[in-house]
Amino acid sequence: MWFDQHVHMEHGPYTPLEYPRAWVEKFIQVAQLRRVSGLGIVEHGYRFLESAGLLPGVWSEKRCVYPLEGYTQFLDEIRHDYPIAVGLEMDYVPANRTGIRDYLRRYPWDFVLGSIHFIDEFGLDVSEMKDQYQTRDPEQIWSTYYQYSIEAASSGLFQAITHPDLPKIYGFSKPSDDFLQPWYRRFVEALADNQVALEINTAGLRRPVKEIYPHPRLLQEAAKAHLRITLASDAHEPENVGLFFAEAQQLAKECGIKAVNAFSADGIKSIAL
Ligand SMILES: [Zn+2]
Ligand SMILES: [Zn+2]
Repeated sequence: MWFDQHVHMEHGPYTPLEYPRAWVEKFIQVAQLRRVSGLGIVEHGYRFLESAGLLPGVWSEKRCVYPLEGYTQFLDEIRHDYPIAVGLEMDYVPANRTGIRDYLRRYPWDFVLGSIHFIDEFGLDVSEMKDQYQTRDPEQIWSTYYQYSIEAASSGLFQAITHPDLPKIYGFSKPSDDFLQPWYRRFVEALADNQVALEINTAGLRRPVKEIYPHPRLLQEAAKAHLRITLASDAHEPENVGLFFAEAQQLAKECGIKAVNAFSADGIKSIAL
């Protein structure tokens, strides 16, 4: 049985102001069909009023509209009825580290996923900004991305770092493996030193790049360092829960990974591959 550590319920009828249980149950039903015994529920941290000013740019500013308490109260109400862990996916923005720490302290999360979605105001996975991949220097994008990822891993704020080679999402040209390999090593070292997990995220197979995050070379480094690994669909709709986990399992094994981990209120569990 798997644990899907990264599931959003924000599409469909669900908003952090209105929480139909029937919507939650659809996620649970698909989980059962795909042998997923538990779900790590997260929302994007930028959806909440309390995150105002913590993320860069107008795109984020417009989205801080829901009270955080609505979300956490709902999950507190249902957490004993469903096999879920209560989490948040929060961006790491180096300049706002203190504010992010204070924001995360507002609730005793079971786990927090750290993400790098932004370099300055450039949203790496925001489709209306994707032209910027063609005007920015790829080496600059990727080195900044891993610099931020290393800082996120070392920040003490997160249990896992998500989709850890996100800039490949649209399939634009990447720096060479020789350029990226030292970044992979430094990033893995930071994760190992701080006991932070690396996420295998199958959502990349649903994106133009059609690849699981992260690249096998990064997973090989993770295996050598015996990092904790989480498994994630990054589903935003029920039908994507646990999707492509067999492919993720195969990739992980090929890269030398022996087990994945599940973070929940009961602690950290290991699931052999
Ligand atoms: Zn994300
Ligand atoms: Zn996500």
